[in-house]
Amino acid sequence: MPELNPRIAVYTGTFDPVHHGHLDIIQRGSHLFDRLIVGVGNNPDKQTLFDIDERVQLLQQVTGEFPNVCVEKFAGLAVRFVRGEGARIMLRGLRTLSDMEYEFTMSLMNLSLDAEIETVFLMAREEYSHVSSSLLRQIAKLGGDLSRFLPVPVRAALIQKATA
Ligand code: ADP
Repeated sequence: MPELNPRIAVYTGTFDPVHHGHLDIIQRGSHLFDRLIVGVGNNPDKQTLFDIDERVQLLQQVTGEFPNVCVEKFAGLAVRFVRGEGARIMLRGLRTLSDMEYEFTMSLMNLSLDAEIETVFLMAREEYSHVSSSLLRQIAKLGGDLSRFLPVPVRAALIQKATA
């Protein structure tokens, strides 16, 4: 099997849509690793507001300033995607205790699926630790102020979708 590079990380998620909490993890991850691939999951069992290409496109628009970051979509097992990219690290963000329980289980399962891939967690910055895509989708539907949580192109796209 080809060797995996510990200086390459893959940040996996649904990103429906990407928000400042995600972008903070992307920025910090881009300083820690030589290359960071944002892996956008396409899970047919999970209903999303934005389809996979829309989620990828929004991420590409708002990560353009990071030269060592690229965005790709994937389907199937996350560890398989990470290995396919030659990366040794799966990057995830942690917000709350409930995130911790879920992420702990997922990282143990991923480790048993592929023992060479390590999950690395970054704690959410305090000001974004209550921010989730699902809450932002609800706020958009109800016409609340999203300016602190979303970059401009994402905000416009979310308002358009949520009020269509
Ligand atoms: P998933 O459905 O795979 O959890 P998300 O798009 O909700 O996808 O989240 C992707 C990753 O980003 C997860 O590790 C999640 O914990 C992290 N994350 C989500 N919101 C925030 C936030 N506000 N701050 C830091 N990390 C976050």
